[in-house]
Amino acid sequence: MDSLAEGYAKLVLALGQHDADYVDAYYGPADWRKEAETRKAPLDRIALDATEIQTALARQPRPDDDMAWLRLQYLQRQLSSLLARVRMLKGERLSFDEESNALYDAVAPTFSESHFQEVLDRLDERFPGSGPLVQRYEAFRRAFVIPRTKLDAVFQRAIQACRGATRAHVALPENEHFKVEYVTNKSWSGYNWYQGEFHSLIQVNTDLPIYIDRAIDLACHEGYPGHHVYNVLLEKSLVRDRGWKEFTVYALFSPQSLIAEGTANFGIEVAFPGDERVDFERTVLFPLAGLEPARAVEYYEVQALVDHLSYAGNEAARGYINNQIDAAQATAWLERYALMPHDRAAQRVRFFDQYRSYVINYNLGKDMVRRYIESRGGTAGQPAKRWHEFVGLLSSPRLPSGLQ
Ligand SMILES: [Zn+2]
Repeated sequence: MDSLAEGYAKLVLALGQHDADYVDAYYGPADWRKEAETRKAPLDRIALDATEIQTALARQPRPDDDMAWLRLQYLQRQLSSLLARVRMLKGERLSFDEESNALYDAVAPTFSESHFQEVLDRLDERFPGSGPLVQRYEAFRRAFVIPRTKLDAVFQRAIQACRGATRAHVALPENEHFKVEYVTNKSWSGYNWYQGEFHSLIQVNTDLPIYIDRAIDLACHEGYPGHHVYNVLLEKSLVRDRGWKEFTVYALFSPQSLIAEGTANFGIEVAFPGDERVDFERTVLFPLAGLEPARAVEYYEVQALVDHLSYAGNEAARGYINNQIDAAQATAWLERYALMPHDRAAQRVRFFDQYRSYVINYNLGKDMVRRYIESRGGTAGQPAKRWHEFVGLLSSPRLPSGLQ
């Protein structure tokens, strides 16, 4: 098993030579990376080797140990995803749903425009007036922008709170740590670059105004109990405790990303259940950002409504990837149905260009993770059980199709 798994890890590194975004993190042996760089295996060679490892894996007897069985199934599925990515790089065109199924082991539900229109109608009542709703909503939101000069203080305080909430329930290595950098000119709003040795680099994109809700969102999503904690627990429980070296490499366009983004998004609610979030924001973050604390509840009531538009982003991406609409139409669709102002919608279409059907990992991933955790008793009313199931998921190689 270990040598097959090692073969998989080396193929991910080899594919990284053809696709700059593919290897999201790597902290395994330095000579594996060097080998991939000097060898520069062609795509056909990578595909042949991947198929060979799949055949060998299929011949492995089913292990008695649950974790070893998850590992074997996981490797098989990560390899079939890698093969799909090879085909895409060779020019094969997949539809949005075919692609998300092949790469991420999941297909997002389809919603019609009338589904979103119902939510928009409610927001229209909340923000009466003439002119496009997105502009009325944006005018409301302007009072909740974190001033640039206060951004780092607010963000650091949010991280401290997320870290505290997480460490109360999750045993993390003493030396785990991350660094925050502020960057510009990216298609994403935040990114965690895991470095190994329980260390992450988190980048926050300041191209567009950052609203107060992004402080907790980003601190939880990129940090605690999101990507940073996920990677730390994988390194601790799989790489170090079990010696499963394939987990030192993280293939971005793979089923692992649905688990990563889904847990990072659901983790926000795990860390701040019920009213805890708005209470913390009202008493700590709003004053720190110089915003009016009395308006915190109102802001989050509106955000809860707008959250119902989350899948509108998938529809724009689906139409765009399927060539039913062009970039300008996708941008307009996001403005109208996802209530994104023009520049944010345009940034999102650049994200579609770079990451395509990856978008489903955020909202579908979150919903799948929630259903999985709650079906195992980890409901909002059972916080200890919820944390327990959440940590179990973060520490095991479970596939999206295995989330039931
Ligand atoms: Zn993420």
